[in-house]
Amino acid sequence: SDFAQLPLRPDLLGNLSSLGYEAMTPIQAASLPLILKGQDVIAQARTGSGKTAAFGLGLLQKLEVERFRVQSLVLCPTRELADQVARELRKLARAIHNIKILSLCGGQPIGPQIGSLEHGAHIIVGTPGRVVDHLRKGTLQVDDVSLLVLDEADRMLDMGFQDELDAIVAQLPVSRQTLLFSATYPEQIAAIAEHVMNAPERIEV
Ligand code: AMP
Repeated sequence: SDFAQLPLRPDLLGNLSSLGYEAMTPIQAASLPLILKGQDVIAQARTGSGKTAAFGLGLLQKLEVERFRVQSLVLCPTRELADQVARELRKLARAIHNIKILSLCGGQPIGPQIGSLEHGAHIIVGTPGRVVDHLRKGTLQVDDVSLLVLDEADRMLDMGFQDELDAIVAQLPVSRQTLLFSATYPEQIAAIAEHVMNAPERIEV
């Protein structure tokens, strides 16, 4: 398949074949080589473009499953999108045993989330408000996060999550990879990119 050209782990490649992913979508072809090199990437892409697998393969490739710490944080505007992203990540991660992907979304009781966090996780997919709640309570540790994904960044801003995004980014290690996906690229997104990203490559497909 197309994916076999990429420096991906054999277990991830094998699983992609079993999922029937043969050809890369345009956003995957444009972004994955950069993502796998560890670069920051801004990609203009909408739902249905295959963007979840683009950042998902990036974060799974980087993940050290034997280190049971939160290593990737994916922020989404809504619970619906976060659930959809978590489902796709679990599908892509089927070949990685003992991997723990946890959703932290608002509108859900916080108690069970705290219980799940006590058991540990490798990847968090969440909405900004609830992630901030956990950071303030001290129930989520992000000092080992080496990859941040801002998914549908334009919608997160439209929903008024700017302050939450700033609060979250302030807690993350400075030395990390940041990937930003957005359907549109208004001035506000350019401004965010400027202060949360490191020499990002910009992709439009
Ligand atoms: P997304 O834009 O991330 O929501 O993905 C849209 C759909 O395309 C999801 O159902 C994915 O499972 C599927 N998909 C992503 N990449 C590929 C691929 N390379 N080949 C086939 N299906 C894919």
